[in-house]
Parts: sequence; C-alpha cells; structure tokens
Amino acid sequence: MTSDPAWPSLATTPPIDGAHSKIKSRLVEAVEQHRDEILALSHRIHEHPEPAFEERQAASWVAEAVARHGYRVEHPAGRLETAVRGRLAGGLGTDGPRIGILAEYDALPGLGHGCGHNTMAASGVGAAIALAGVASQVRGEIVFLGTPAEERGSGKQFMIDDGLLDGLDAALLFHPSDRTQTACALLASEDVEITFTGFQAHAAADPWKGRNALDALVMLFSSIGLWRQQLRPDARVHGIVIEGGTAANIIPDRTVGRFMIRSTDELEFGRMRERFRQLVHAAALAADCEGEATFSGGSSTMKDNATLRDRFLANMAAYGITDNPVLPDQLGSSDMGNVSQVLPAIHPSIAICEEGVPGHSIEFRDAAASPRADEVTLIAAALVAHTAWDLFADPALVAAAWREFRGA
Ligand SMILES: [Zn+2]
Ligand SMILES: [Zn+2]
Repeated sequence: MTSDPAWPSLATTPPIDGAHSKIKSRLVEAVEQHRDEILALSHRIHEHPEPAFEERQAASWVAEAVARHGYRVEHPAGRLETAVRGRLAGGLGTDGPRIGILAEYDALPGLGHGCGHNTMAASGVGAAIALAGVASQVRGEIVFLGTPAEERGSGKQFMIDDGLLDGLDAALLFHPSDRTQTACALLASEDVEITFTGFQAHAAADPWKGRNALDALVMLFSSIGLWRQQLRPDARVHGIVIEGGTAANIIPDRTVGRFMIRSTDELEFGRMRERFRQLVHAAALAADCEGEATFSGGSSTMKDNATLRDRFLANMAAYGITDNPVLPDQLGSSDMGNVSQVLPAIHPSIAICEEGVPGHSIEFRDAAASPRADEVTLIAAALVAHTAWDLFADPALVAAAWREFRGA
C-alpha cells in the first residue's frame, strides 16, 4: 500500500467558473451548509440496512428530509409502500422542464449496504436540498424520486407503471463504485423463482415411494453449469437455493431456487429466458417432479443519454475528477435501464474507494461509510444539482436530450 489516495472534496474545490457560476456556487454552498444533515442520513441508512421492498425506515427518513426543505411529498407513492415522490414548483412558473432526481436505498440481504445505496439516498436528498435553495429562480419543476427495490424486483418499473415519472424530461442520479465512469452500459436482467414439487417419504425406510424435489434442483444447477459453455461471454446466469428440504431423513417434496439471468442483448435475452424454462422442465421431468418458473422484476439495457452525460462530465471536470471508459466485461444491471427506455437518463458512477474493490462485498459495504464516500456523496449531490440546473437554465439542452432519445 502506498500513501493515502487523494480524493476530491467539496472543501478544496476551486471556485466554479463558466456559465451560471453564481447559481452553481450557491448550490455548492447549500450542500456545504447541509453537510451534517446529508451525511447523517447516509450513515443512518448504512447502519439500518433494509432489503428490496422493505426499506420502510430509509423511505421515511428520505421523505421527511425533502419535506423539511419544502417539497410536496407523496409517501407511499403509487403501489409501493417504500416509494417516495417529492415535488417542488419553480418560482418562475411550472411551464419549464421537469427534472427528476432519483435516489435508491435498498440493501442486500445478509450483507447490508454492499452496493452503497446509502450514499445514493443521501446525495439525491442533498441535490434536492440544494435545488430547493434556488427554486425561486427555476422555471419548471424539481421532482425527487425515492426509488425502492433496485437490487431485486425493479421498483422503478412499478413507479413508471404507476405514472410517477410521467412528464419528466430527465432522470439523474449517482451510483458509488470503485471506478469513476459516467457512461453506463447495463445487462438486461430478470429474476426467476423456481419451485419444484415432489412427494415426501422416509429417506431410509421407503425412499422409493418419494419423488425428490431436491434432485430436480441439483439437476437444474448442473444443466445451467453445462449451458454456460454455449452462452455468449456477456451472458450471466446465477442463483441460490432458498429451500432445499427440511431434514436429511425426509425425501424433499418442495425445493425453491432463486436465479437471475442477464444479457447485453435484448433479443438474445429472450432466447435465454426460453432456454431457461426448458432446463427447468427437463430437470423436473428427470426427477419425476413438477417444476414452475416465475419470472419477475425485469430490467432493461441502458439507453445512455450522451447529451445529459456531457453536462455531468463538464460539471465533474470542475472538481478535477476524471472519467474512465466502460469496461465491457464488468457489466451489471439496474432498473435505471427501464427509466432510460422512457425518458432521457444517465447513470454516472464515482469512485468511493480504490479500484479493484468488488461491489456487493463486505469491503465495498465498509467503503460506503468511509470519509471518502462521505466527500463523494456531497460532491455527487452538487454535480447532480448542477446538471439539473443546466437543464432548467437552458431548455434547448432539454430539447437536445429528447432529440437524442428519439433518435433524431
Ligand atoms: Zn447499486
Ligand atoms: Zn447492487
């Protein structure tokens, strides 16, 4: 290990120049002024991790925070108990862009905030707080969206279906990473729950009377392992056993597995889903059981908006933060992909730790509460606020983002 890594800090940022420098400086000052409130939120959520669809405390804390700063808050919003929407009308009228600031806050079961969503919640709230301070000079509407269930279940798709993103012109957020990277490519992904049903019997006295549902599940894992040889390099199939039987001396009559399948290509993804169904059917047949596959929580590939990303990049450059290209072999998935299919969106990542720390790990979880993560959370709040301001100040930019989105 060499010396401490130098990381960017709001406190050491040179004065911002260029277009709208006055407002942008005010946005930074507002983040600075609410530093303790923003970071306390990040740490409180980190210390109380809640998995997808169960983020009751985090959603309440986030909703309370934006309400304190003048937002009209709906919580729950739509069908999801842990979804939040806060709206703040611009002082110059609402006949301008509607800019969405998104914040995730779900954790990983058994790990906690191994994806660092506590920093996303806090930076989203921080951006909303900063923008509230200049709302009197906004023509349009600032829309804060607390978006549950990113790790599983694609909460943002429910919010889209419930109309909570209707009328938005852009969707902005920040995600922590081990690598700063404003561009985003995502794998299409879907959750699959498999249930095999057999018949119970004494495992020693009369096992021939049973039909073993665990055999079916083992068979499924084996066939997935063999299938990988024929999959494209960017495809992913991975799963865990949720229920594997209840006792070694009972032939299991019910087993449950949870899987995710992913691909960079939507067409290939469709073929994979069909093939996966066949593997489930074949495993059930081999073990003389019934097999059921339930697909849910689909997330799409990302339609990354370069017009928005260029603004984020320019704002980031003011902090001396340099960008890195997307690594084609390190792709994940996010329901931000679903958002990007309905309106201009970006999913920039900023490093909160040294490169090489794997996501969804204890190391990354600990990094998400480190002093460096705190500084990045504040900077991300400022960058998201700056990018939102660019859009409010220049409706032509919003039009350009839509033109790009529509492929014109
Ligand atoms: Zn994440
Ligand atoms: Zn994650």
